[in-house]
Amino acid sequence: MSETSNLNLAVVGGGPGGYAAAFLAADLGMSVTLIDPELNPGGVCLYRGCIPSKALLHVAKLLEEAHQAKDWGIEFSAPKIDLKRLRSFKENVVKKLTGGLGVLSKQRKVRYVQGRAAFENSNTLSVTKTDGAQESLTFDRIIIATGSRPAVVSTLKLDTPRMMDSTGALNLEDVPGTLLVVGGGYIGLELGSVYAALGTRVTVVEMLPGLLPGADRDLVLPLHKRLEKMFEAILLNTTVASVKDEGNGIRATLKAQDGNSQEKVFDRVLVSVGRKPNSEIPGLDKTRVQVGQRGFIQVNKQLQTDDPSIYAIGDVVGEPMLAHKASHEGRVAVEAIAGHKVAFEPNAIPAVVFTDPEVAWCGLTETQAQKENREVKVAKFPWAASGRAITLDRPEGMTKLLIDPQTERVLGVGIVGVGAGEMIAEGVLAIEMAALASDVALSIHPHPTLSETVMESAEVFYGTSTHIYRPKRG
Ligand code: NAD
Repeated sequence: MSETSNLNLAVVGGGPGGYAAAFLAADLGMSVTLIDPELNPGGVCLYRGCIPSKALLHVAKLLEEAHQAKDWGIEFSAPKIDLKRLRSFKENVVKKLTGGLGVLSKQRKVRYVQGRAAFENSNTLSVTKTDGAQESLTFDRIIIATGSRPAVVSTLKLDTPRMMDSTGALNLEDVPGTLLVVGGGYIGLELGSVYAALGTRVTVVEMLPGLLPGADRDLVLPLHKRLEKMFEAILLNTTVASVKDEGNGIRATLKAQDGNSQEKVFDRVLVSVGRKPNSEIPGLDKTRVQVGQRGFIQVNKQLQTDDPSIYAIGDVVGEPMLAHKASHEGRVAVEAIAGHKVAFEPNAIPAVVFTDPEVAWCGLTETQAQKENREVKVAKFPWAASGRAITLDRPEGMTKLLIDPQTERVLGVGIVGVGAGEMIAEGVLAIEMAALASDVALSIHPHPTLSETVMESAEVFYGTSTHIYRPKRG
């Protein structure tokens, strides 16, 4: 890591993948140019994704807690929502963070070019700057970090602001009376929760039999139960056959798998059915970069494409499309370029859905283990036995470990409950450090915290959890 490199590097795309790569490259002594259309680095995550949505989810949580407070003897009057101020809170959060990245770029002497890049050949980019000027720049190496964009469904295309993708929904133009969310994944549930907390009657339509298809069912259940109370309806095995703009609303035909269909009018519709990689970069065909069938740029474990001068990282190279995966890939690509012996081969990439309760998991999931016919022991600790969860009046959570029965190694961790997103990092560390269940059980966790549920689930594996009584057999 201490070796330096004096290569001349371009990074195309300034999201968490691109800027992390650019900053490390500068730290390693490379001469770095970072190209992105926005005023400062940040990408979708900071401008139109993770960060603004988390600012709004923070407010949503507050509204929900204020509502729940009457169970604890505290009653607030109905909230007055000043949308302009709420939007400016969110925008200031974005400005602060992206501005900070601009400063960090300058401090590192990264040349930040506001514009769009096209390939002239494997080493040369033609950059059209935001002010219209054009520049041709040549580099030793180029990293593509162009990210992804919302997937579009042809039957759900209407030219009206009532039809939104995640960007439109984050703009928070108004608090619609009713909102149809198409797709019960990360974005649909997070932004659906924001609108529901603000007072919108939300209907979620999911084509598969369950919400958050990538997560274990037992982790989704407590969230589903709470969302059923927050949302007007959650319709599984259902798709939207058609939408029609009726001027004062969108008429949607909701079609269930069993053939039943119903029509409803909504003030707004959020389409959140996944994302598509931004691999259609002009001039990419003038290089040897290969794009696979699903639009992902093909790379090896060093994130190098089929063109030796070009690397690619983040959403544009494949799932999971998560900022933290992109940042790590970016760092590996830069180290590989610097000549270090590295590979991107994590044992655990955490996934967090920032709903209330949060759902988080890393490493092996139970569903995956079943699919692969892999023998694992699952140790679950219900939060109804956690002192901290009870003090928060949120006992619906659950922490579980997937353990290799032979070696006792922790292979996977799943958590549902408030703060699960923070706690999953312990699971990542345990898996990456090849921790045994006994290592987790023997590590003293602070009391009273939710983190104790990780320790106690390891104790459950040995049948010795302090707060769970298991009668002896026989
Ligand atoms: P997603 O893949 O999480 O969910 C899409 C959902 O839409 C799935 O459940 C899918 O079955 C359903 N679906 C697909 N087509 C449908 C149709 N025609 N009708 C009804 N349902 C349909 O995708 P997303 O929510 O759009 O988010 C995109 C990606 O962005 C995520 O996969 C994730 O990688 C990333 N993201 C992450 C976070 C986070 O880390 N907290 C938050 C937001 C987004």
